[in-house]
Amino acid sequence: MKVDTEVLIIGAGVQGCSLAYQLSRRGRRVMIIEKASIAAGASKAAAGMLGAQSEWEGSDLFQEFALESRAMFAELVPEVEALSGMDVSYVNNGMLKPVWNKTEAEKYQRLSGHSYGAKWLSARETRSKEPALSEHIHGAWSIPKDGQLRAYEWTLALARAAEANGTVIRENTAVDQLLEADGRVCGVKTSEGSIKADEVVFTGGSAGARLLDEREFSLYPVKGECLSVRLPDAALEHTLHTPEVYIVPKKDGEIFIGATEKPGDASTEVTVASMQKLMKAAVHLVPGLKHAGIERFWSGVRPQTGDGLPYMGRTSKGLWVMTGHYRNGILLSARSGSWMAARIEGESVREDWKQLFAVDPKIRKGGVIHANHA
Ligand SMILES: Cc1cc2nc3c(=O)[nH]c(=O)nc-3n(C[C@H](O)[C@H](O)[C@H](O)COP(=O)(O)OP(=O)(O)OC[C@H]3O[C@@H](n4cnc5c(N)ncnc54)[C@H](O)[C@@H]3O)c2cc1C
Repeated sequence: MKVDTEVLIIGAGVQGCSLAYQLSRRGRRVMIIEKASIAAGASKAAAGMLGAQSEWEGSDLFQEFALESRAMFAELVPEVEALSGMDVSYVNNGMLKPVWNKTEAEKYQRLSGHSYGAKWLSARETRSKEPALSEHIHGAWSIPKDGQLRAYEWTLALARAAEANGTVIRENTAVDQLLEADGRVCGVKTSEGSIKADEVVFTGGSAGARLLDEREFSLYPVKGECLSVRLPDAALEHTLHTPEVYIVPKKDGEIFIGATEKPGDASTEVTVASMQKLMKAAVHLVPGLKHAGIERFWSGVRPQTGDGLPYMGRTSKGLWVMTGHYRNGILLSARSGSWMAARIEGESVREDWKQLFAVDPKIRKGGVIHANHA
């Protein structure tokens, strides 16, 4: 069969762009079909935290994947920035998880020394690191290796770097249907005509889920709302993460405050109640934020799965699926891209991860622990 491209990727979110970059640097001919524009979905809305420890408290197989992903950014960011000519505002100065009482403090004190370099800080130590924090905090769990970047710019930079390696990206082109021949997925039907490919990969996130057979996949949307502010003079140094709110200071002084969690909601509206709740929690944590000017607000829809684990595998009809990264898709993008590229190339990969993320429910193994759901 004559094909139009070797690998066709549905959706130019962070997953699709990361995979395109990894495949294109291996010399593969790649095409991305995007119904709107690059990073039009959840990837534009993300706060950009690379929270391999702030989002996990136990240790499990999924966290090992997240830790590997986080570790990749230090080398991958300069590589992608050089190829794309973009700055993604990568910051690698750690996160603080402030706590308000002794019971919470004891939980972290017990973990000290057993958690990849994270350690407990007293109230005095915490406030000397981040003086803007409330004087009522009891201390904080300090995670020196969790970083952050600008998620929209990261996704765009991956796309531009993939293009520099020869990837073709077609925006404003929706995939309406998967094409099959002899029971195998062999291409897609789009608003602009049919495209044939050796391999087809679904990275359509929440908005594209209808292309997948709902009998095989357990996927649902979880809306999140955020706002951003700027302080007139004082600056925040560290990302602050609590169950009620996270505060992510960007390099240029914009401060992201997020995020709500609305399972089953795929709408785009941002409500007054949500903004009020986030602002109240943020000011409680950093009182000086009451003087900050509001810059913007937005929402996005996270793709979540029934068991909390992403799908990264292949269906019985040969369709590759890479979705369901929920609230950690930016963090996981580095390793997901290289992992899926290796799988598509037929390289040998860790069997336990293959089972963990499998599409087939008989192979798939559950057991993920999510620490916070702010
Ligand atoms: C408020 C909020 C805050 C977040 N904060 C963080 C964070 O701090 N750290 C972190 O790691 N993660 C965070 N996340 C999660 C992260 O944003 C997602 O996990 C990630 O962006 C998912 O990427 P994706 O590529 O799978 O999906 P998306 O970014 O949604 O991309 C899917 C793309 O597919 C396209 N598409 C859909 N259907 C079709 C079709 N039929 N044809 C063609 N194209 C199609 C869409 O237009 C879209 O561009 C946050 C999410 C939200 C909403």
